[in-house]
Amino acid sequence: MLRIILLIVFLSQSAFYSFGQSSGTIDQKVRALLKKMTLEEKIGQMNQYNGFWDITGPAPSEENARKKYDHLRTGMVGSMLNIRGVENVRKLQKIAIEESRLGIPLIFGFDVIHGYKTISPIPLAEAASWDLEAIEKSARIAATEASAEGINWTFAPMVDITRDARWGRVMEGAGEDTYLGSRIAAARVKGFQGSDLSQTNTIAACAKHFAGYGFSESGKDYNTVDVGTSTLFNTILPPFKACVDAGVATFMNSFNDLNGIPATGNSFLQRDVLKGKWNFKGFVVSDWGSIGEMIDHRFAKDLKDASRLAIHGGCDMDMESYGYVNHLKTLVETGAVSVKHIDDAVFRILKVKFQLGLFDDPFKYCDIEKEKSLVGHADHLDGVLDIAKKSMVLLKNDNNLLPLPKSGKRIALIGDLADDKNSPLGSWRLAAADNSAVSVLEGMQKYIGKSLAFANGPKLFTGAETFINELNINTTDTSGLGEARVAAQSADIVVLVLGEHGYQSGEGRSRTNLDLPGLQQELLDEIFKVNKNIVLVLMNGRPLTIVKAKDQATAILEAWQPGTQSGHAIAQVLFGDFNPSGKLPMSFPRSTGQVPLYYNYKSTGRPGPKDLVFWSHYSDEINAPLFPFGFGLSYTNFEYTNLKITKKGVRDIVVSVVVTNTGKMDGSEVVQLYLTDKVASITRPVKELKGFEKVQIAAGKSKEVTFLLSRDELGFFKENGDYIVESGDFEIMVGGNSEKGLNGSFTLDKIVSKK
Ligand code: BGC
Repeated sequence: MLRIILLIVFLSQSAFYSFGQSSGTIDQKVRALLKKMTLEEKIGQMNQYNGFWDITGPAPSEENARKKYDHLRTGMVGSMLNIRGVENVRKLQKIAIEESRLGIPLIFGFDVIHGYKTISPIPLAEAASWDLEAIEKSARIAATEASAEGINWTFAPMVDITRDARWGRVMEGAGEDTYLGSRIAAARVKGFQGSDLSQTNTIAACAKHFAGYGFSESGKDYNTVDVGTSTLFNTILPPFKACVDAGVATFMNSFNDLNGIPATGNSFLQRDVLKGKWNFKGFVVSDWGSIGEMIDHRFAKDLKDASRLAIHGGCDMDMESYGYVNHLKTLVETGAVSVKHIDDAVFRILKVKFQLGLFDDPFKYCDIEKEKSLVGHADHLDGVLDIAKKSMVLLKNDNNLLPLPKSGKRIALIGDLADDKNSPLGSWRLAAADNSAVSVLEGMQKYIGKSLAFANGPKLFTGAETFINELNINTTDTSGLGEARVAAQSADIVVLVLGEHGYQSGEGRSRTNLDLPGLQQELLDEIFKVNKNIVLVLMNGRPLTIVKAKDQATAILEAWQPGTQSGHAIAQVLFGDFNPSGKLPMSFPRSTGQVPLYYNYKSTGRPGPKDLVFWSHYSDEINAPLFPFGFGLSYTNFEYTNLKITKKGVRDIVVSVVVTNTGKMDGSEVVQLYLTDKVASITRPVKELKGFEKVQIAAGKSKEVTFLLSRDELGFFKENGDYIVESGDFEIMVGGNSEKGLNGSFTLDKIVSKK
């Protein structure tokens, strides 16, 4: 109580109090505040600094670091990132509120990407669940934990569509498909933001990276992006639009250039499309240092020039470039930048702060009791366990080797990752305690205790494992191989855990070779010599090329990096207490040379196969992936029958299908609908996902699943960005993956809508 009284006394004395409590709409309050602000104070709101410890990008110079405190005091900072913990947030907020002239509260941003302290599966894994409710819930859990630690803004969701598994950041998105990616993007925004941003357990979301970052040439991070209008409008932009429609509060632009213009200074993207056509009312933050990086792009001659280009381009807040804070004033005074642009940017930023309720109470996210009570919260552990199980994809299960028997067989668990409590946390888990995941060993021991034999095998890596340093993969030290072979020899079934370390994917972690890293294939070869009953559990942050391993293993479970509850989730699936239902959100290539690889490719003028060599193919590999998009098995079987296609009114098509669980176990199936526009005025993909539903079906039972195809699903964007639905013939495929299903067709008689 005393605390509340003191706070009221303090608030009533500070300048900021009058803005929060004044009457009127948020827009009116923002306008009133803007009138009181000097040009410097406005520019201050557009400046975001990193904290003084966590670093998620190149560190600032010493001089810039020293300036940070001074700038906080003089109102020259609008936001901080990488500050966490109630005590730390409170300290900095106090400086901003008490010492700056207007006392405008800071907004605190953090990369809450897949969980905060309780870690969810990596986003690519969550996408494999195709379970929008569970995905939303996972984001909700993350928001609840982050907000209890003083954070009110996450730099998520990342909604970059990508088709190139070499790019390390595929782990952070929803995979290769625009439709699935858009639905997941909206679910994540809802999860983070809830229905009311001013609640203390919701945080502002940030759609990133706008735009094209997932198409970095050759899968190399930060690389140039050159895509045509068809790909831009039909593939890259829709998930961002879905975020706007879901009410996302902020956007982040991206490091890459797009067709010759860096995204950070790209007025077509940020002003014409985002703030223009889409009428986005929130603000755009740069990526870390991306304003300054326009100099390295050789698009700006110096930081001042870069700042001018960024503000013209529509970038409202500068993350760690020191460009706006050092140069905007001069740029305005010399007429190079219009004050209208500044006012617009500041209006947007202040508006989000009002929406978060920070003007009512700048310390509303700073409740120390709440912070303490959320550590190890049981509901959160249950929530991430649930989505971890739903994320797993059964890729192979010959002879029904899975589920494993809970007794009567000798099981050996092998692999360096099997005993790892750190790697399963994935890449973006800055607030989680190291080594806080349940290992596969611990998870399986819960089922069969000491009867489980364990052998580590060769080490996957040597040296330190950190977010900012390259991981050193072991390619030479084979010690552990012999011991693993012995363990395999005396077991009935071997569970072999292979894949990538959590720090082999993520930002700055591109790979040219998607094979199992290090000595893992050698380990599998050794085991295969002595035991053929191999269950391969894959833990990885991206599709891998596992052609040989696929043949050697009898069963394969793709577990990804499942987060805090890894071992429990994997064990529950392996022992059959959870029937796997995940489906791949990215195609698995047969060879790295096939990437970019995706199911919704264009047929080309020579789809083949034809005689001779003159068709679109490789001489040394088939075109098909190893596992296609949408693929995933179950411990039961699903049969599809009764595909019906009917017209509803002039513009809508209704598709229905009956799905029967023909096996002996209850299970869930992701029913997928693919559409092919047979002839169109621009070339269109061979097929595209246009609907899906995850249904739970009891053994022996059937369910009818119905889809509605209307304007949003039937059309496409033309080269000028206009959306059109054209008349003509369409084909439909409904099934359990992108390759096989029931086929049907319909004709749209006339152009049903045009904009
Ligand atoms: C990443 C962003 C991230 C930012 C802040 C950048 O390097 O590209 O996705 O939000 O750092 O940590």
